[in-house]
Amino acid sequence: MNLHIIDEIPNHLREVAPAELHQVLPGPTLLRIRGEKEPPLFICTLLHGDEPTGFLAVQQLLNRYTQQDKPLPRSVWLFLGNVAAARDNLRHLPDQPDYNRIWKGGPLPEHRLVEELLAILKSNKLFAGVDIHNTSGQNPHYACVNKLDGPFINLGKLFSPMIVYFTRPEEVISRALADICPAITVESGQARDPFGVDHVLDFLEQCLALDAIPTNASNPTEPRVYHSIARIEVPDNCRIGIGETCRKTDFNFIENLELMNFVEQAENTLVGWRRNPDLKLAVVDEQGQDVSENFISYTNEEIRLIRSVVPSMLTTFIPNVMDDCLGYLMQRYALE
Ligand SMILES: [Zn+2]
Repeated sequence: MNLHIIDEIPNHLREVAPAELHQVLPGPTLLRIRGEKEPPLFICTLLHGDEPTGFLAVQQLLNRYTQQDKPLPRSVWLFLGNVAAARDNLRHLPDQPDYNRIWKGGPLPEHRLVEELLAILKSNKLFAGVDIHNTSGQNPHYACVNKLDGPFINLGKLFSPMIVYFTRPEEVISRALADICPAITVESGQARDPFGVDHVLDFLEQCLALDAIPTNASNPTEPRVYHSIARIEVPDNCRIGIGETCRKTDFNFIENLELMNFVEQAENTLVGWRRNPDLKLAVVDEQGQDVSENFISYTNEEIRLIRSVVPSMLTTFIPNVMDDCLGYLMQRYALE
């Protein structure tokens, strides 16, 4: 498995659907597109093959400048990740690792590929790094940072006043990029929402127009920063239902689970029902410790929150719950 590097925009890249991208690119590819200013803005997308918004926005961006016969205002290095999974509209293929969990070393060919990419990124100055995703559940658009430094927060603020700070999982690209340049992840809503494409396109245009990352002085609005404190995992091979009715399950979660995202939930809020008393949800903190007892109680069949928290990324899309997690729990974070 090789990293492909191309220094021009391949034919048809600007118009193919994400599912046909494999006909244009042989696999994970770094495109280096020259613009008026250096150093380049690094844009990463399609690490998850079922999250097309970033790719669709980049296509519109490239079309906009090509149609006007103008160069981009700043060079762009564009990494298109899991082209093979995009063909099947899957997060990753069954025999692949999650492409946003391979950035901290490991034994697989995919680990070697991204190490090669990171070495190239490190050897070249970058203006900033942006990794573009969708969420499977309903969430407001928000930016994630792995450092609370001014440039990271101010870059995030260009996308959304809502910013999530997390340090785990450690194997994500934004964590690796954070050692190289100001870097953020943008979560641009659900995959089929055209508003997400418009918003990401506007954001990328803003980034390309910048001469420097904004400072607090140039954009003094206070963001709402949340610190991700734990993630909720379900046991392997358990059976999950949504809503109260279905009984042949181990866990059921409330119908409106996704509406809890980014809304402060009071102590004792109902999350779902445990049908199988032999199984437990695992609430795992950023140090990898099981802290379930601080967050979740089981009374009769009911699963309730022990304390007030702000959830994010809660999803009722069961394949992602099984493959990744049910969602995250956060606390409001006061910036100094
Ligand atoms: Zn993603």
